[in-house]
Amino acid sequence: MTEIPGLIAASDVEEWADETDVLIIGFGIAGACAALEARRAGADALVIERASGGGGASALSAGIFYLGGGTAVQEAVGIEDTPEDMFKFLMASTGAPDAELVRRFCDDSVEHFDWLETQGVPFERTYYKDKAVIAPTSECLASTGNEKLWPYREIAAPVPRGHKVAIEGDGGGAVAMEALIARCLDEGVRPLYDSRVTALIVDGDERLVGACVRQFGEEQSLRARRAVIIAAGGFGMNKDMMDEHVPNLPETAEPLGIPNNDGDAIVLGQSAGAATRAMGGIIATGSFYPPGHLIKGVLVNMRGERFIAEDSYHGRTADFILEQPNSAAYLIVDSEIFAYPEIETAKHRLLDGWDSITEMEAGLKLPEGSLQTTMDQYNRDAAAGHDTLFNKHPDWLKPLDKGPFAAFDVGYGNSTYVYLTLGGLRTTADAEVLDEQGKTVPGLYAAGACVSSIPQDGKGYASGLSLAPASYYGRVAGRNAARLSNR
Ligand SMILES: Cc1cc2nc3c(=O)[nH]c(=O)nc-3n(C[C@H](O)[C@H](O)[C@H](O)COP(=O)(O)OP(=O)(O)OC[C@H]3O[C@@H](n4cnc5c(N)ncnc54)[C@H](O)[C@@H]3O)c2cc1C
Repeated sequence: MTEIPGLIAASDVEEWADETDVLIIGFGIAGACAALEARRAGADALVIERASGGGGASALSAGIFYLGGGTAVQEAVGIEDTPEDMFKFLMASTGAPDAELVRRFCDDSVEHFDWLETQGVPFERTYYKDKAVIAPTSECLASTGNEKLWPYREIAAPVPRGHKVAIEGDGGGAVAMEALIARCLDEGVRPLYDSRVTALIVDGDERLVGACVRQFGEEQSLRARRAVIIAAGGFGMNKDMMDEHVPNLPETAEPLGIPNNDGDAIVLGQSAGAATRAMGGIIATGSFYPPGHLIKGVLVNMRGERFIAEDSYHGRTADFILEQPNSAAYLIVDSEIFAYPEIETAKHRLLDGWDSITEMEAGLKLPEGSLQTTMDQYNRDAAAGHDTLFNKHPDWLKPLDKGPFAAFDVGYGNSTYVYLTLGGLRTTADAEVLDEQGKTVPGLYAAGACVSSIPQDGKGYASGLSLAPASYYGRVAGRNAARLSNR
């Protein structure tokens, strides 16, 4: 369903198969949180889910939530944070165009953390201090973004805000979803599984009043007395949409998620006149760390030049590598820091070892003198403790002068980068959907991976900036939808 479906007029509906106050499309984290809050505000909440059960991509996720401003975990492990610092960091680093939307997320972040815990999503009072993409332990708090990267470390105090669900390593998303879905069912949220929303229904005032649903080959119309909430996920699995919006992404990159992350949410929103934003934004990852000390290496492109501070968040590094000639890049290390990248799925191949940088330059077929010049300058800077090119943090600086030297291929051509989409429907801080003129679409709300909320691309992403805004703005959507009067 990449084609934008037509809107159905309520006056053309012969029979309503069911009615509800708030109709929610999708039972991932955004939909579950929306349904719970709508229910608690006194509304009947019907969730339409295309799969045979709830969970969505949310249940596949690592379960890292980006939250701060002084959460119970931050306090327990002695990290001082404020909503203001969190706001300053997110505004400076993510490219978020809507300050109000970011402000509310930061101001309510402590409350939102408490709310998640109250629903049964477990978090330890612990701090994982090493550098990893997903902490291998059940420890909670970790630095999961560009907080310590220049210039952000000078804009706001660089504190950790990634909160991982209490489970060893990966898999926290399933734990979170199990708790949230159980709450929904306990509190009377009505799920309708194996049912795909194929079109939206509007009344004579162009207000959203329902949805057409296909269930086991049968079409039916469902009425929403108050509002419709779209929470049906991203579009990474839709090749046509990816080709249209992210045309420079090499074929080797692979989407993360479930097959149903194929853009239905976005085309349904567009059918009602919704505007989209940041559709080219993705968070790709093929991290060369852990081990963390590989960050002391340097990244160069096919011109033998550095192009980024190597202590960047892995999603930022992936975006920069994508922009290099042929999306190619090499990680250069000396014998003192040599190690194999631990994330095997990224498939960063060791190319070879060389006794000198000149030999490596020739071996990698880099322009004559290019790598030598790069390494000379880097080693001078590292010895002086100041990276004059990119301001890499002094913690990660050391002269790379202990041969032999090795290079790993970390470019897109021979490595595997996996990605999620970040672009989607435009919404307000009240989770209302906006049209091209910036006006709200009556009776329509959206949250989760189908909206463009805070991070606009991988350069500004931090792990946890999907689940946290999806759950927070899902709640906002549910509360606001429930507040509308019946039609
Ligand atoms: C492997 C992996 C790891 C991740 N780790 C993290 C992490 O640690 N932290 C983080 O912040 N983010 C992470 N993410 C991203 C995050 O999981 C997603 O952005 C987030 O879960 C999106 O939630 P959602 O509710 O919007 O969508 P989903 O959870 O995908 O839910 C959408 C639901 O809508 C349903 N649906 C689709 N179309 C229709 C239709 N037409 N009718 C009815 N139902 C429909 C789908 O079946 C699905 O159940 C990860 C993602 C993956 C895949």
